[in-house]
Amino acid sequence: MTFARQVLSVDELRGQLKGSILTPADPDYEAARRGWLLTVDQYPAVIVIANDAQDVVAAVRFARDLGLGVSVQSTGHGLKIPVDEGVLIITKRMKGLQINAASRTARAEAGVVWEQVIAAAAEFGLAPLVGTSPHVGVMGYSLGGGIGWLARKYGLAADSVHGIEIVTPDGELRRASATENSDLFWGVRGSGGNFGVVTAIEFSLYPVATIYGGNLSYPGHLAGEVLRFYREWTKQLAEEMTSSLTLVKIPSLPQVPEEMRGRMSVILKAVYVGDAAAGAAMIQQWLDWQMPTSNTFKEMPFTEIGTVANDPVDPSPGYPSSEMLDELSDEAIAVMVRYATNPRSPLTISELRHAGGAITRADRSANAIGNRDAQFYMTMAGLAPTVEARTAVEAYIQRYSADLKPYLRGGVYLNFVRGSELGKRTKDAYSAESLARLVALKQQYDPANMFRYSYRLVE
Ligand SMILES: Cc1cc2nc3c(=O)[nH]c(=O)nc-3n(C[C@H](O)[C@H](O)[C@H](O)COP(=O)(O)OP(=O)(O)OC[C@H]3O[C@@H](n4cnc5c(N)ncnc54)[C@H](O)[C@@H]3O)c2cc1C
Repeated sequence: MTFARQVLSVDELRGQLKGSILTPADPDYEAARRGWLLTVDQYPAVIVIANDAQDVVAAVRFARDLGLGVSVQSTGHGLKIPVDEGVLIITKRMKGLQINAASRTARAEAGVVWEQVIAAAAEFGLAPLVGTSPHVGVMGYSLGGGIGWLARKYGLAADSVHGIEIVTPDGELRRASATENSDLFWGVRGSGGNFGVVTAIEFSLYPVATIYGGNLSYPGHLAGEVLRFYREWTKQLAEEMTSSLTLVKIPSLPQVPEEMRGRMSVILKAVYVGDAAAGAAMIQQWLDWQMPTSNTFKEMPFTEIGTVANDPVDPSPGYPSSEMLDELSDEAIAVMVRYATNPRSPLTISELRHAGGAITRADRSANAIGNRDAQFYMTMAGLAPTVEARTAVEAYIQRYSADLKPYLRGGVYLNFVRGSELGKRTKDAYSAESLARLVALKQQYDPANMFRYSYRLVE
């Protein structure tokens, strides 16, 4: 791209937009190029902050004509691969949200975050399939799959999507559903941002006004015993209960009191949808087994769902990776305990999310999502504010995964994967048949791989 051509085209584009356009020369560029996830450092040639779908159309056509790649950012919680020299389309101003109480559905534009949907749906006693953090964007979460606190009862968020509006790489705004552009509709659900910019999404809501949820904490030295108890507990759980077990190491950061730094604990987090007494009876099994050091379980309005995980709200330099397990063998538990409780470990969490239920039962041909039989989604993550810290976290995760390998499913949940790992792992997220179909769709809709900053369907 020559300088003269870029300046000319940027000016032309500016004239077409209701939203804003930023280049490296603009004072606001520096803040705009960063998302929530501070480990992704990117320098796009042009940033378009879109006000509406027509702005997105203009930005995609601009990129198409210049042969530039396009990345999409709503909140920046899930940035995959830094967009350097391409066009970054920021959708955060596209906040339109409609709730249809009669059909129990919502239509959200590309910049809507879950917090907004939770509040609007709650007015009708309805709830969305939000994940652990209400501050995550509806779009990135849902397109990647979306495993939340209602997952075992109602499935992944992507399974509840029944319509999308998308600007495809040719710059056309299309609708996709089971009856319109159904091939695209199949592929977009589960493949992240590979097929264009989704400008709006329609999805189901569920009649959940209250939940029974909270945490139990156990000291880190009980990690092995707690994991074994978790294995047995999850084997007999009703689908109304969705849970996770996290081995947490408090990071050694200046803002953390010295006596707390490096301290380990094991935390059960769970949400029961339905009669609170039935949920409490399931949690009572833990209390009968071993008293926790703290217990926050209670009945609460769905609007408080974010308090169950208490995920960080402020931007963070997290570096996560993902694995999946079909069962939790004693050998796998031993590896987890060894790596997670190692005093020299740079990781802050090793987490298992219990899957199964409606995730497994869903129609496997309906969308691209694979690994429906995985029983546990695993996340390993550390803080990586510097290059050295990132290298240490990546190397530790690689050794951890290698030692766990004999006990792993081999699958992966791509919403929990970043950077260079995507090249190696994207294929593990799908069945061979679905992967071939996705690659063919990519050839059809995006032969130049314009949307190349998401999951790596093609190199
Ligand atoms: C604190 C935290 C908690 C989380 N909890 C969960 C959880 O409980 N369950 C779960 O499943 N995941 C969870 N995630 C992972 C999360 O789902 C992904 O990071 C997701 O990609 C975030 O989506 P976003 O739109 O907020 O992020 P963004 O960084 O803005 O987008 C991420 C990616 O999604 C794609 N994308 C975004 N918008 C569009 C669009 N309009 N059109 C096309 N593609 C688009 C792009 O590829 C983009 O790079 C969590 C992440 C964090 C950081």
